[in-house]
This record gives sequence, structure tokens and C-alpha cells, in this order.
Amino acid sequence: MTSPTLSIVSELAEIVGPANVLTDLDVTAGYVTDWTGHWRGHTEAVVRPGSTAEVSAVLATCHRLGIRIVPQGGNTGLVGGSIPMEGEIVLSTQRLTRIERVDVVDRTLAAGAGVTVAQAQDAARQHGLDLGIDLASRDSATLGGIVSTNAGGIRMIKNGNTRKQLLGIEAVLSDGRVVTRWKELVKDNVGYDLPGLLAGAEGTLAVITRVLLRLIVPAPRTQVALVAVSTVGDALRLVDRLERAGLTLEAAELMTRTGVDLVRRHHDLRAPLAVDSPLLLLVEVSGQRDTQALLLDILEKAGEAVLDAAVEEGPAPKLWRYRESHTESISAESSTPPVKLDISTPLREIEQFLTTLTPGLTEKFPNVRAVCFGHIADGNLHVNLLDVQENERERVTDFVLRHVTRHDGSISAEHGVGRAKAPWLELGRSPQDIDLMKSIRAAIDPAGLLNPHILPSR
Ligand SMILES: Cc1cc2nc3c(=O)[nH]c(=O)nc-3n(C[C@H](O)[C@H](O)[C@H](O)COP(=O)(O)OP(=O)(O)OC[C@H]3O[C@@H](n4cnc5c(N)ncnc54)[C@H](O)[C@@H]3O)c2cc1C
Repeated sequence: MTSPTLSIVSELAEIVGPANVLTDLDVTAGYVTDWTGHWRGHTEAVVRPGSTAEVSAVLATCHRLGIRIVPQGGNTGLVGGSIPMEGEIVLSTQRLTRIERVDVVDRTLAAGAGVTVAQAQDAARQHGLDLGIDLASRDSATLGGIVSTNAGGIRMIKNGNTRKQLLGIEAVLSDGRVVTRWKELVKDNVGYDLPGLLAGAEGTLAVITRVLLRLIVPAPRTQVALVAVSTVGDALRLVDRLERAGLTLEAAELMTRTGVDLVRRHHDLRAPLAVDSPLLLLVEVSGQRDTQALLLDILEKAGEAVLDAAVEEGPAPKLWRYRESHTESISAESSTPPVKLDISTPLREIEQFLTTLTPGLTEKFPNVRAVCFGHIADGNLHVNLLDVQENERERVTDFVLRHVTRHDGSISAEHGVGRAKAPWLELGRSPQDIDLMKSIRAAIDPAGLLNPHILPSR
């Protein structure tokens, strides 16, 4: 394996221009450390191509020299997948930022992989449409990133995950060949679903340069309720009642009192409700009829299952703030980079999973604090572990992921595998399944140059 040298730096500079090959350590520092601060790598260079043709030339050059690449979008991923831990070259999509077209008839958006989720949302909203995906990292997370991680987010319950939004893709293979599937068709069954395969591939199969996403028609009005509940079961039954009454669930997020107290401390916020409940459910709903009256009626009829509630017309940023500030407040609070686990279980298991998790953790790791929150209607919880010492990260992770497996769950609901979960892949996939994934990798990137150390490495 050739190590990156001055010659690769000058070859890359010839392709993208010297200003777009970053080598200064102060400048590259932000590209080699992840959002949580746990994953810290190193690189000879960050290369920032400005077009698919430049990405292709960069990859062909690296292929010729046997140089490994880590693709990077907004670097908000939470599993260490975008960090060059072994000194790989970082290929940043930061300059692929062209919004090419919003098609209001076919309801699609065509854009460069480096466009952020917030920029794509703004473009769609100017036409009365919206992106089907939304997440708290929207200002930095890119379209290439959400496709590569198959992100879920807060609107997944209504619109599905990113793969479901993906109609077309342009991507560059590790040898520089460009693959394009680009048709504004919702029905197109000609062979394998290549865009679907690249979605969730975490940069191991190709570098995505352009995406064609379907857009949704947003609900004209929504209502948001923050509801104090005692149990996960009460929260799920309330969600069920809302849907059965004909309301459309736009979002359903569960928080614990511990998490909300932490957010309040870090943002100097008042208690959202008069009652101090162990759990808070945030729901956003829309509907044809008088949504607010119907929502209030359901909350009232829920009896003791609803301890208290606040209802506001959407988008209700003041209510959402308690939920959206969780991730950064947790990072600010923890004395060490938090261990961030993102799991899902079948809905029937999630209450038992959550109520047994904390006592089990406390018994084995008394110094560790757990803050759980997440997209409850998808059975998805973000398990955040604070104050974990470096030498116990692996054991704590192992404890939680085995607990997930006992409840028929997934060790990665939406963040992907990256480096963080790679050692536990066999908890989520059978040996045959892992072998097949390796074969697919070997067929598409035979030299093993793209993000070689994540997912099942070869
Ligand atoms: C505050 C906060 C909230 C979050 N909320 C959610 C949430 O609700 N749901 C959710 O699913 N995630 C969430 N995340 C995680 C993260 O935002 C997503 O995983 C997002 O999709 C990553 O996008 P990115 O552009 O930052 O990708 P990066 O972090 O740069 O990369 C992520 C992975 O994709 C690969 N990659 C990136 N771009 C490309 C490309 N163009 N071609 C090929 N491979 C590429 C990288 O190599 C890496 O493996 C959150 C993160 C934060 C910090």
C-alpha cells in the first residue's frame, strides 16, 4: 500500500486546484475529529472536488496509487464512519452544493451531495413542498450523508427513511467509473435497486455526488402536544389512539425526565409542564377536521394515562426545543465523550427494554449515567451513556447491545454501523448475511479503497 506523499497532494491539486487540497493541520483538524469528540484520526490531505468529473479523477488517481479514501459530508455521523482513523485521504463533498432543480409536477429535488438538509428543505419549501427527512443536525448533515447512512429522523414515522425518498443517484466507484440512475419515476423495476444499495452503504461502495429525492406535500397545519406520562405503554397507547381517531402522526418522540432536566439546565429553560412525570411524549399531528379539538378530546379521554399536557399550533419550536436540544446538552454535560447507541426494538418489547436497562447498567457501571430519548413510534431509542471512562467504553457498549438482542432489537436503528458498531455486527446479522455483504463490497470495490475499516471490513 502506497502511503500518501507529496506527489499525491500535487496530483490532487492538479485536479481540484491547490486551494481545494487542505494539508495544514489547523485546517484539517475539523475533518479528522467526529461530532462526539471520541473519534480522532489523521490525514495527509482533505480533497474537495467541485464536480462529479473531479470526484472521478480524484478516485481514479487514488486507485492507481492504491490510496484509501474516507468520504465525508457534514461530519455529523455518530458512529465514526467519516473519520480517517488510519490516515486515509478525506474526500469532502463540501463543494458539491448545487441545487439543480425542484420539479413541482413530479415533486422531486435534484441536488449535489454536499447540499445540507436545511438548504434542501428551504429550496423545497419555496415551492410549497418539503423534504421527507428532517433531523436535528439539519444545518450540517448533507444529502449525500443522509443517503449514505439511510438516516431516519423525526419525520420517519410519516414519510419513511431516506432510502424511501431516493429516486435517483449519481455516484463514483473507487476506480473512478461514474454510475448514474436518474429518472423521475416512482415505478421503475429494471433490475437491482442500485440507489437502494448505496443508501446505507456508509461510503463503502461509492462516493455519491448527486441525488434525486422525492418531495412531500407538507400538512398545511399541525398541532404539537407535550404530554406527561408515567410509562412507555401509556405513551404508545396514546399514539395508537391518535392514529385510530384519524389523525396523521407527523412525529412522536419520547423523553425522560432526566433528559429534560439536563436540557433545562443547559439552556436555562423552565419546566415545560406543572407535573413532574418520569416520561414526556412529544407528538405532532395533522388531520382533515379540527385537529386541535380532536387532539384535546383524546388527551382528556385518556384519563390517568395523561398526567398533564401542553398543546400548541405547529411548528411549536418552544415545545420542540426540549427534544431537539438533547444531543448537544448531553455532549456538554458528560465528563467524557458520550457513548451514543442508537437501537430499536419491536414496540411490544420497548417498555421492558427501557425499564430494565437502567437498573442493569447502574449495577454493573455505577459511575455511568444513561439518558434515553428517541423516535418512540418507530421503536427507536437513542441510548446515551455519560461519564464512561475510556477503559469501560467497550464493556458498556457490549452490555447495552446484548440487552437489545435479548429484546429482538437492532444494534443500529438509524445511525449505521461505522467503526463504533463494527465489532458487534454479528449481533445484528447472521454469518451468511455478513459474508454476502463482504462479497458485494469485493465486487464493487475490489481494491478495498473506500472506507475500508467500517461495516464488515474485508
Ligand atoms: C444533533 C444530531 C442529531 C442527529 N439526529 C439524527 C436523527 O434523528 N436520525 C439519524 O438518522 N441521524 C441523526 N444524526 C446523525 C447524522 O446527522 C446522520 O447520520 C447524517 O445522515 C450524517 O450526514 P453527514 O452529511 O454529516 O455525513 P457524515 O457524518 O459526513 O458521514 C456519515 C457516513 O456517510 C459517508 N458519506 C458521507 N457523504 C457521503 C457521500 N457523498 N458518498 C458516500 N459516502 C458518504 C461517510 O463516509 C460516513 O460513513 C444526528 C446527529 C447529530 C449531531
